[in-house]
Amino acid sequence: MAQGVVCEFCSSEKVVKNGRLKRFVRDIPRGGRPTLVEFVAQNWLCRACGKSWAEYPPGVEKWVQATDALIEYIIAYKGKKMQAEIATECGLKLNTVKIIQNPDLREKRRRAKKRSKG
Ligand SMILES: [Zn+2]
Repeated sequence: MAQGVVCEFCSSEKVVKNGRLKRFVRDIPRGGRPTLVEFVAQNWLCRACGKSWAEYPPGVEKWVQATDALIEYIIAYKGKKMQAEIATECGLKLNTVKIIQNPDLREKRRRAKKRSKG
C-alpha cells in the first residue's frame, strides 16, 4: 500500500498505484494565444471502493485544469483587462475567468473538488 495517500472518494488507505497518465493543462498564454503544458499524473486505484483518480503534481490546479502560474496571471489582470479578452487568450470559458477572479468562488470551487465523499 502506498504511504500517505488516501482515497479521494472514501478516504481509505487501501490505495495502489495504477499507472501514469500524460495530461495537458492550460498555462500562461504566449504571444496572446492559449498555451498547454504536458505533465505526468500518477493514477491511483482504491481497493476499498474501486474508484480511480489522477494525482496532479504541485503547481497544477486540478479543479480548473490550469497551472498556478496561469491562475496568478488571471488574478493579476483583474480590472486591467476585459474578462472576455483574458478568456480568449487563455483558452478558458468566460465563466471560469470570473470564478478565478472572485476569491470566494475560487475557494469554493477548490474545496468542492477536494471534498471526500464518504
Ligand atoms: Zn475509495
